Amino acid sequence: MLRVNNVNKFYSNGEEKNHVLKDVSLNIGRGEFISICGKSGSGKSTLLNVLSTLMKPDGGELYYNDTGYHHMKERDLNRLRNNCYSMIFQFHYLIPYLNALENVLLPFTNRLFPVHKKNVEYAKECLDKVDLQGKYERLPGQLSGGEQQRVAVARALVKKPEILFADEPTGSLDDENSREIARIFTDLHAEGYTIVMVTHDITMAGYAEKILNMKDGKIVS
Ligand code: ADP
Ligand code: MG
Repeated sequence: MLRVNNVNKFYSNGEEKNHVLKDVSLNIGRGEFISICGKSGSGKSTLLNVLSTLMKPDGGELYYNDTGYHHMKERDLNRLRNNCYSMIFQFHYLIPYLNALENVLLPFTNRLFPVHKKNVEYAKECLDKVDLQGKYERLPGQLSGGEQQRVAVARALVKKPEILFADEPTGSLDDENSREIARIFTDLHAEGYTIVMVTHDITMAGYAEKILNMKDGKIVS
């Protein structure tokens, strides 16, 4: 589903050039749950950002179902990102003055059209899936940290993404809430979702069916 050949990425700070991804190659099959594990600074977030189109690589090839997107124009990249990919980050980025349901509906919010009823129904299904039934109308400030992150998971699911990318999704959570996210990801995987999760937490990485270890910009095992 996702094919990555010899991707490279540099950051330059003035004269210095920092080589952060060094000929990274990997394949992700439909329905796989993969974790990318490694120490802080090893290049995990950069790799995830490149895979999920948020950053352009400085070399190498990226294919989604045989369509190359390493050279894609911004408009086509936006289409790929909007139709096929969803992202979850360490911080939930919920809008504080919108309730849980409205936050989940954000991908469908358009100033010109009201949100379609079937999208509202599906958004509620997504919130139910992350155990937030009965809390649709809570504002983020009226939810616990774990619940807020679960709203972010529901918001990522509402577009029915082909691939779910998560960067340290439990990085701000305690053990109990992290296990809850792990359980949700395991259920989503069982349902057929393709998940790519970055984490420095070995326990969390262990929930995936395959672990890629990153060190100094390379996948080492
Ligand atoms: P990880 O997610 O594994 O902690 P990152 O991909 O965030 O690693 O970072 C890899 C390396 O790239 C680190 O040395 C980091 O300091 C550097 N880096 C990350 N983002 C930037 C940036 N926007 N500009 C310059 N250097 C960066
Ligand atoms: Mg990171």
